[in-house]
This record gives sequence, structure tokens and C-alpha cells, in this order.
Amino acid sequence: MLPSKIPLAGALPIPADPRYTSRMSSKRIAGPEIERLIQLLAKVPGLGPRSARRAALHLIKKKDQLLVPLSAAMADAVDKVRVCSTCGNVDSSDPCTICTDPRRDGSTIIVVEDVADLWALERSGALSARYHVLGGTLAPLDGIGPDDLTIDQLVRRASEGEVTEIILAVNATVDGQTTAHYVTDRLAGFGVRVTRLAHGVPVGGELDYLDEGTIAAALKSRTAF
Ligand SMILES: [Zn+2]
Repeated sequence: MLPSKIPLAGALPIPADPRYTSRMSSKRIAGPEIERLIQLLAKVPGLGPRSARRAALHLIKKKDQLLVPLSAAMADAVDKVRVCSTCGNVDSSDPCTICTDPRRDGSTIIVVEDVADLWALERSGALSARYHVLGGTLAPLDGIGPDDLTIDQLVRRASEGEVTEIILAVNATVDGQTTAHYVTDRLAGFGVRVTRLAHGVPVGGELDYLDEGTIAAALKSRTAF
């Protein structure tokens, strides 16, 4: 006769061995100061928990060359960095360096979604104009309306007389283009020329690798050779 209950191999109780812990365990490997440094670094865009640990260890190893000056630079940034009340750029002065630079063309304002876009355009060095940072795009589904962006300030700047052209350098996304249409409507009647960045083939791009939307946009906005 077989016993009524045969214990399954997998169900046998295995005594816990304190030398091994689960990979999912949240066992701490360092004191609270280091753990906090890692947790905060992990919140930086582009750094996950793994890179944050590597970065923290690197900073700790290079204490005098890196950690101490970085800490001082951060304290300085906390103290001095502010948002420009004219254009929304971040700088250590208000108005910012760009708004107060007399060599820039004050008749042209380039409208961007974010300061990162302003920096990207500045890197190109193509135009020496002023900027306006919207602070995002209209996104009704996420509850972001015109009052959450700096559109009123842009309209005020456009009405001040010196401005003759406003270049909408927003992203070629649905939200970006919705925002561009809204801003264009708001700027109507001020006698200001509203333009937008060209959409199409990137420099060095090959047609065969482009998506249909990009090719269609490039055909539509073709220019004389
Ligand atoms: Zn500014």
C-alpha cells in the first residue's frame, strides 16, 4: 500500500542558510550617507540604480578631485541659479545673459519647449536671437492648458514693438504641433511674422532609412535648389 500523502520534492522545507540571500533582497551594503547619495544620483536622468552606484563609488574614490568641488558647485547652483523672468531660461542672473546680450538680434524670438532645447539651438550657433521658454506643451489629457505655460508672457513680448519674427522651434510631436497652432492663433494681429522649423530629411540622412511621415513632411516643405 502506498501512503496516502507523498510529499513532493519541491515542497520539502529547506532550512534558511544565512550566507545566501535572495537577489531581490533589499539588504543594505553601505551606511545611510552612501545609500542616500546613490538614491539621489539614481534620480538623475540617464542614471539608473546601477550607474548611480558606480557614480557614487567613483565620487567617493575621487573625493578631493571630484566630490568636494562637485558639492561646492551644487551649493553654488542652489544659491545662485534662477529662472529668467523675461524668457524662462535658467541662469545666475535675471534677466539672463541671453536677454541682456546687446549683440543679439532682439527682433527675433525663438520659442522652445524647454531650456534643453534652447541649449541645443545655441550649440548650433546658427542664429543669434533671443528665446522664449514655454515650459512644456499643451496636453489637455494631462491637464496642461495655456495657463500652465508662459504663452501670455510671449504674447506680451510680441506686442512690445521691437519683435518682428517669432520662430516656433517646438518638437515635431503631436503635442508640440498642437501648441504651435495655438501660439500662432494667439499671435495673430500683432503684425509679427510667425515661422516654424523645417520638417524633413536630417543632415547626413538617407531617404531609405526615413519613416513615411518624415519623407512626406520633407516633400511638402521642399525648397528651391
Ligand atoms: Zn532671459
